[in-house]
Amino acid sequence: MMKQLIDKLAEENRLTREEYIDLIENRNPETCEYLFDKARKVREKHYGREVYLRGLIEFTNYCKNDCYYCGIRRSNPNVTRYRLTKEEILDCCNEGYLLGFRTFVLQGGEDSHYNDTDIVDIIRDIKRLYPDCALTLSIGEHSLESYQAFYEAGADRYLLRHETADSNHYKTLHPPNLSPEFRKQCLQELKEIGYQVGSGFMVGSPGQTIENLADDLLYLQELQPHMVGIGPFIPHHDTPFAGESSGTTELTLFLLGLIRLMLPAVLLPATTALGTIDPMGREKGILAGANVLMPNLSPIKVRNKYMLYDNKICTGDEAAECRNCLEGRMKLIGYNPVVDRGDSKMIQEGKNNV
Ligand code: SAH
Repeated sequence: MMKQLIDKLAEENRLTREEYIDLIENRNPETCEYLFDKARKVREKHYGREVYLRGLIEFTNYCKNDCYYCGIRRSNPNVTRYRLTKEEILDCCNEGYLLGFRTFVLQGGEDSHYNDTDIVDIIRDIKRLYPDCALTLSIGEHSLESYQAFYEAGADRYLLRHETADSNHYKTLHPPNLSPEFRKQCLQELKEIGYQVGSGFMVGSPGQTIENLADDLLYLQELQPHMVGIGPFIPHHDTPFAGESSGTTELTLFLLGLIRLMLPAVLLPATTALGTIDPMGREKGILAGANVLMPNLSPIKVRNKYMLYDNKICTGDEAAECRNCLEGRMKLIGYNPVVDRGDSKMIQEGKNNV
């Protein structure tokens, strides 16, 4: 019965809410293996055994928001705040380029210190110096005008997880000034502008139900993003969720497999959070259908200051060490990190095809 549902998802790339609930609720080790096997085949059809790499540059940990789950939330007084200068960001890119990265991801808290002109200036310089690289932004909620300006300056992709598709659940994870409607509106606008868009959610966030997860999948089914970032929720000791438990590797992997079948050519990272709760998490993620890794390129001196959750891995390693470590880990499971922009194969035509 479960296998039939997995077959149906593989064939039709969509299920109903009840079917997703049924699958998640009744999963067992056997259905998981069945799913992962199918997910790997779909992944290999589109991406072979190549693994795309993104160099993550965490350029600021100042944040005006106060998300209850996040370690760098505004009201955490124990964070040593930092901002990288443009020169430091460009140094990260240079190091990353030499290591074979052809995508840079600029991620940060929502830092009002930067106005649109500052961000545009950074984007222009990166794209001028590295015209063969893709640039991804992960800097939260902005106006349509700002998103448009960043895109025109050369940004190619945008990551903005929807976090949870259920409005009530959203309100239990975020303070009242953040609205689920605006989050979704941002994603819609980013897509319309022409970005390759990434959405996603945390697995096992406090209060999350199986129904919530089914709604997250339905939302992705409707949005048809080019990328989906999911990883386990992990508590941070200085947040209101300090005492909550983490999401599990097992459920995260199952959802990765489902997402691969639902969006066959999606860019799907095995995230750092997955590698944090399980020493083999990233390998398991790749074997469940993921095809992207996002190692850290941030300078060593700031690594341990961008702590979204406790025990984050790779905070003491040089970029080159991370790169080599992942190369080795992927080779051991028969996969191959490549020097490539790693665009989504969903984009066969249209303005995204650059
Ligand atoms: N400010 C940007 C970047 C956020 S950090 C934005 O709003 O998009 C990127 C992602 O890390 C978030 O979208 C969230 O899903 C995840 N994250 C934050 N805190 C986390 C935690 N405690 N455990 C696991 N993931 C977390």
